[in-house]
Amino acid sequence: MTCTGCALLCDDIDVHDGEVRPACRIGAAHILNRHQVDPMVNHEIVSIDDAIGHAATLLTDAKHPMFLGFGNSVTETQEIGVRLAEKIGAGIDTCSSHAHLIDDIIHNRVRTCALSEVRDMADVILFWGADPMNTHPRLLSGYAYYPRGKNRQHGWEEDRTAITIDVRRSHTASICKGMHKIVFGHEAEFVDALMLALQNKVPKTVYDSKQVLKLAGTLKKAEFGVIFAGPGLVESVPHDAIIRLMDRLNEFSDFRILPLHSQYNLRSIAAVKTAATVTTTDVATGATTNNTTNNTTNTTTDAADAREQQGVGTQTSKITLNSLREADCILCVGFDLISSLPQACDIDARIIIIDPNETLTAGCADVVIPCAAGGVDMAGTAVRLDGVEIDLPCIMETGQAGVGMPTDTPTRMSDASIMNRLLEAV
Ligand code: SF4
Repeated sequence: MTCTGCALLCDDIDVHDGEVRPACRIGAAHILNRHQVDPMVNHEIVSIDDAIGHAATLLTDAKHPMFLGFGNSVTETQEIGVRLAEKIGAGIDTCSSHAHLIDDIIHNRVRTCALSEVRDMADVILFWGADPMNTHPRLLSGYAYYPRGKNRQHGWEEDRTAITIDVRRSHTASICKGMHKIVFGHEAEFVDALMLALQNKVPKTVYDSKQVLKLAGTLKKAEFGVIFAGPGLVESVPHDAIIRLMDRLNEFSDFRILPLHSQYNLRSIAAVKTAATVTTTDVATGATTNNTTNNTTNTTTDAADAREQQGVGTQTSKITLNSLREADCILCVGFDLISSLPQACDIDARIIIIDPNETLTAGCADVVIPCAAGGVDMAGTAVRLDGVEIDLPCIMETGQAGVGMPTDTPTRMSDASIMNRLLEAV
């Protein structure tokens, strides 16, 4: 079975007597989580049919609907969600700071690789603005550091150099051979300094030049280097600066980049949307651009044109209060809006939430629709952080306890079925 606790999608999971093995603590908590909510309309408990009906009415009446999330939904739900957005002219925003990087990877603007290649070949690994020991706990043992790979038979002791670049000394930094501390507010300056150091120029910077030159020397000697890009990198350094850095690194060695995001299926929703027209919002300038790609899998340019005519934006940016204020109805799918942006509880828009678990947003939403969790009590497919498609079988049947699971598991409708009902109703 597969764990959907993070984007690593470990597929060696087994459940026995209420214990989830060999999942990490995040995965076990995710699979055993029973903090579920009842269907609600205006904070009153109702039937699931009434909640879906009320949500359909709100979406039908909305003049500026907006969909948020989808990174924690199976691919099948995302595809229906995009169709629903097209039908009612809603914009979709994944609300992830990794969206630009994933877009750059999908469009081959930066080089990437599979996790199996990291395990077999990587000799220099950078954890940049990332702390996988606490966000993707099995990354280091499964792929990035400890395992012996085909060309890395001596593992971390001799064959691998792991370095963290972060604003603080994280848990991951404590096991790495090097650590570079980023000065808060000077994140992009570190990239500029490193770019100069890679050209053997001494950077004039707030950072220790000798340390930056030493890091550049290590990176240039790499046979197969990998940057794991955490939120600390993608939120503070413009994505074109990351592209330039990757180009510069690849002048000297073979360097790849992988996004380290938490939402288990973020890579898929980016691909589902990117298959047609993509409207991206530049976080720094607020400017929007439209790109049409022929790199389609299942969507034609005609469909993309139709979306443009309908005004269906497919924004991929970190959410801001201003962009939310334009909407009069917000549908959150597997996304806890209030936890990400607490000020959003003051906006005028009606809020609908579809989520497997109780969240802060459920507490102030107009409509709450509980759903089954992908890979736990509903099957589907998802795309791992390195782009590999993974099947998600059910760990337990919805409404049944399942092998070794708690017996108080309620029946839950899948978010794909809920989305289909909304699609028919609007
Ligand atoms: S590393 Fe991620 S996918 Fe693997 S068991 Fe932990 S939470 Fe689940």
